[in-house]
Amino acid sequence: MVYRCGEKPGKGRYICINCGEDLYLDDEMDAILPCEKCNSCYFQKGFDMRYT
Ligand SMILES: [Zn+2]
Repeated sequence: MVYRCGEKPGKGRYICINCGEDLYLDDEMDAILPCEKCNSCYFQKGFDMRYT
């Protein structure tokens, strides 16, 4: 499952497929933003210790 910029997949940890940078969404209405490091728009869901 790949998530792209602008999608709102809900709270959780997402990981940049390109460089591995973490992106955290803290609100159900937060949208995925381009990676801070490499500007990639492709993320996959990461295991999130903060919400388990
Ligand atoms: Zn990246």
